[in-house]
Amino acid sequence: MIRTIPLKALIVGLIAMLASACLAQEMRPHSILVLDQSDGGPFYHQLFSGLREVIGKHSDVHVTVYNESLDMSRFGGKAYEDTLKRYIKEKYQGKQIGAIVSVGAGTTGLVLNWRDELWTGIPIVFAMLDELDVARLKPPPDVTGVIVRLPLADSVKVAQTVVPGLDTIVLVGDDWDRLVVFRNWKDELSTVAAGLQVIEMVGQKMSDIRKRVAELPPRSAIIYSSIFSDGEGAFYPPFVALGMIAEAANRPIVVAAETFLAPGGIGGIVLTPSLIGANAATITLRILDGERPEQIPPVHGGVKPIFNWPQLQRWNVSETTLPEGSEIRFREPTFVERYRWQSLAIAAALLVQAGLIMFLLHERHMRHDAEVESQKRMTELAHVNRQATTSELSSSIAHELNQPLGSILTNAETAELMLASDNPDLGEIREILADIKRDDQRAGEVIRRLRGFLKRTPFEIRDIDLNEIMSETFKFLSVQASARNVALDLQIAPGALRVRGDAIQLQQVVLNLVVNSMDAMTAVPYGRRVIGRIKLNDGSSAAISISDSGPGIPPDKLGKVFDPFFTTKDQGMGIGLSIARTIILAHKGQIWAENLNNGGAAFHFTLPLTA
Ligand code: ADP
Repeated sequence: MIRTIPLKALIVGLIAMLASACLAQEMRPHSILVLDQSDGGPFYHQLFSGLREVIGKHSDVHVTVYNESLDMSRFGGKAYEDTLKRYIKEKYQGKQIGAIVSVGAGTTGLVLNWRDELWTGIPIVFAMLDELDVARLKPPPDVTGVIVRLPLADSVKVAQTVVPGLDTIVLVGDDWDRLVVFRNWKDELSTVAAGLQVIEMVGQKMSDIRKRVAELPPRSAIIYSSIFSDGEGAFYPPFVALGMIAEAANRPIVVAAETFLAPGGIGGIVLTPSLIGANAATITLRILDGERPEQIPPVHGGVKPIFNWPQLQRWNVSETTLPEGSEIRFREPTFVERYRWQSLAIAAALLVQAGLIMFLLHERHMRHDAEVESQKRMTELAHVNRQATTSELSSSIAHELNQPLGSILTNAETAELMLASDNPDLGEIREILADIKRDDQRAGEVIRRLRGFLKRTPFEIRDIDLNEIMSETFKFLSVQASARNVALDLQIAPGALRVRGDAIQLQQVVLNLVVNSMDAMTAVPYGRRVIGRIKLNDGSSAAISISDSGPGIPPDKLGKVFDPFFTTKDQGMGIGLSIARTIILAHKGQIWAENLNNGGAAFHFTLPLTA
């Protein structure tokens, strides 16, 4: 069933809605008076900064901020309060104030008392009251603000975290009654500290406190409320008093205000003044812009777990044990953070260096592969060269073999004849047989040397004596030399000259040089001579030279004789010297040619001696 709303009720409702809308739109004077109970220390300075920052961002109308610090921790009593009231009343007479911001329970108490006389109907925004303060002060509904939860229980919990097995808490601060912020801790103490020993150092002389905190038992922690004045009546800004205590204390100090970290507090669930100021400012702006204070519920906030990194290090507290979301202050930057650019530069240099090393290793690997490959090619080429040289020498080799074989035949025939006689001379036959044996060995030796020389062996480095290499090669060439009417002369060094190298390949070098010399002297009618010399060069290398009495090398060809396929011979291949150079370079030596003053050519090479 649909009921019709009576017209009268509808009109009344509409008027009420319009009225409340108009009320909600009511703009207040854009000026505020901030009253706090401090004497203007860093805590209140930060609180104002937070407040001013938010107020300053108010875009519509500029907000004027008046500010009075009531200094209630150093002054108090009825007379002082009356003086303050009079002073403020007279000072702000005629000033349009849109809202009062009262910071702290002490100030809020006064403001509520003075309200009827000084600020009738002006909204009040309190800041930094805890729930117990609110319960005690019972602000009326049009008073709202920022409630902070700052129970002693939180500090005790933090103390238990930073001191495992905590058995004693040491409360250091002003007389409970003088405390303006942490007064409620006194009531909490009996419940919170159950099972713990409690040492109270409240309202004591600074010198006594300093003495006592230096000798605290091992499993204790200090909980610092704040000291404005000590037992002797000396006044301190509370952060300065904390600094003096921290200097002497032998135990960590749990604190409850952000501004107590720097002077030596280890940290705790701390009042964060800038946050409190910002929250109070946000509520105040809403009111100035027309919202009714009773429609804005108090905001909870303004505390945060914050810890002091150097103190955590000092007391060996791991970050992982701290309450969730804890912020760490004064953390020493790591090396990388401190020397950011330098670190980046070093890292970049290391990276480049690593890249370079990788590149060089790769290069080395490639070079090694190339070296192995070229040695293989050189060995193959050297073998071809050897075969070619040997075939050139074949006539003299045949001659060398023919000689012992001929002797064997003659001796065998002689022995046969002698055996056919009636009375053979056995002694002589024995001698003949010995000759046959020696000749056979000689022929065998020629074949062995030839085989060794023609063997296709891989490049093989061993310790060898250059005197031996030269002697062997010269012996091998002796028959050829005498067949070509060339005198071979070898002058070896007095002692062994040891080098690391491949014997066959070094022999090949010598062989190529000597054969070239013999070739060069074909047209020389007489005095054909090849001289080989080995000598110690400078203590670290050996020098070998092969010189001849030929025509020498035309000066314009001196630079070309080592080029591959350079030849002036009809049947030449032009690879003998190029192979010789490759072999010597592979042995880390040097090779060069020159013409001698008295005609003839000389080829020199050096090789490093073994250590
Ligand atoms: P090939 O013997 O097949 O010509 P080589 O590389 O051994 O190849 O020699 C190259 C050239 O160097 C020779 O053709 C010759 O002109 C010159 N040469 C080498 N040794 C001598 C030497 N002792 N006297 C004069 N010329 C030489």
